[in-house]
Amino acid sequence: MKLKLLYTCMAITGLAGTAFAQETVDQAAVQKIREEGLNHSQVMKTAFYLTDVSGPRLAGSPGLKRAQDWAVSQLKTWGMVNSKLEPWGKFGKGWEVQKNYAAITVPYYHAIIAIPKAWTPGTNGAIKGEVILVKADSVAELDKYKGKLAGKIVIFDTQNTLKRSAKPDLERYTDEQLAEMAAAKPQPAGQRRAFDQNSPQFVAMRKARAMRTAISQFLIDEKVGLILSQGRGTDGTTFTTNGASYADTAKAVAPELETSGEDFLRILRLVKAGQKVELEADIKTQFFTSDLQGYNVIAEIPGTDKKLKEQVVMIGGHLDSWHGATGATDNAAGSAVMMEAMRILKAIGYKPKRTIRIALWSSEEQGLFGSRGYVAAHFGDPKTMQLKPEQKTLDAYYNLDNGTGKIRGIYLQGDSAAGPIFQAWLAPFKDLGATTVTVSNTGGTDHQSFDAVGLPGFQFIQDAMDYGTRTHHSNQDTYDRLSEDDLKQAATIVASFVYNTSERQDMIPRKALPTPPPAAPGR
Ligand SMILES: [Zn+2]
Repeated sequence: MKLKLLYTCMAITGLAGTAFAQETVDQAAVQKIREEGLNHSQVMKTAFYLTDVSGPRLAGSPGLKRAQDWAVSQLKTWGMVNSKLEPWGKFGKGWEVQKNYAAITVPYYHAIIAIPKAWTPGTNGAIKGEVILVKADSVAELDKYKGKLAGKIVIFDTQNTLKRSAKPDLERYTDEQLAEMAAAKPQPAGQRRAFDQNSPQFVAMRKARAMRTAISQFLIDEKVGLILSQGRGTDGTTFTTNGASYADTAKAVAPELETSGEDFLRILRLVKAGQKVELEADIKTQFFTSDLQGYNVIAEIPGTDKKLKEQVVMIGGHLDSWHGATGATDNAAGSAVMMEAMRILKAIGYKPKRTIRIALWSSEEQGLFGSRGYVAAHFGDPKTMQLKPEQKTLDAYYNLDNGTGKIRGIYLQGDSAAGPIFQAWLAPFKDLGATTVTVSNTGGTDHQSFDAVGLPGFQFIQDAMDYGTRTHHSNQDTYDRLSEDDLKQAATIVASFVYNTSERQDMIPRKALPTPPPAAPGR
């Protein structure tokens, strides 16, 4: 007999009450999932293939394609069906680094830590040149450099210094912080912070952007050899920023190296002190234009219940990464956890009532393109709220994209009615530190694409670890930063959430359908 336990505890948290008490959890299934997920895990092996074996997984790059192909075949091997690459629309050019060498040679030799900026060209072979400090607060001031920068290596004065911090890099949520999140009040719907286009900061931002564009054009026209820019970060850690344009129509830009703070400021101090600095560099990058489409990895465990099998429970995370390292915590961690959750459910022989589908998105880093493309193709258009029939059968979507930290709970994205359900589903994992349900929203990742068309889309609460301080988009985001116990815990909890969602009599309750944003004036 299946062991069903009715939770009778009332009012553990403000969100409890009768709905929580009535939510049933299949304890026997939870035990099986825990046993498989905690004691027979393959999550680190999966993470190894997505990081060390595939390499950096920048959107459109060969590294992402290696990881996608491996994921499609691994999911097939584990018994998933319809495992495939599904196009989501036109992305643009692929790009990868094929050589990255740069060093100070005068006044002495020192190899520098630097990352070619994404979607920038190489130096077309080895170059050697003096480093020139370009000072210009207006386009007109650039004129004094006309004819003097060809083949040179240019640097700008960033006025930055490196700030040291005594705060530890790696942190976990405290009970107080989690209690505060659990007590958060629902945010009134549609409360978006209004941006005043004419506010001083906006005006300053626009001016700075225009100046950057003018400088970048000037440097191309002057045929500079290489631009050195200061990467964010300290202690040799360099965070990559958004690259040049990947559009197939994009204008050419100059080669650029995002340089570690320590190396950049040493060069800047020397040049500003009138010391001659020479650098040699050999940067080779490759653009790929044979296939401009973007693809998501999709696979399924088909539903078996006559009535419910048409309904779909989805899980996912983005597989693409930046190129400074191997995108381990962002987001091989989330991708490996989601693949592992599928493997666990298969390994325990689960025959789900509803169909279970995994999606490993691409181009999240450029703007949630993979998930938005998928949602537009399958569920509806957030701009018009024109919905498609599949929008009715998508039960819920669960996302993981906040690093390697273990699950501490879940964000309801304003869907309060789902609170007591998730509270009950977390209860069996209290011992693993997962307790918290907050009504708050969280942003910046793929569950938002579902939320935008009125579908229940959730991101789990995860311990921060050293995500913001060390790994997120940096040259330190390697397999070494992954925490095995945390990823095992996360995969186990995700697998149980999927199990419960698929087994539940009713679908996950939904918020009111969002109203489409007002059409832009003149459209
Ligand atoms: Zn991410």
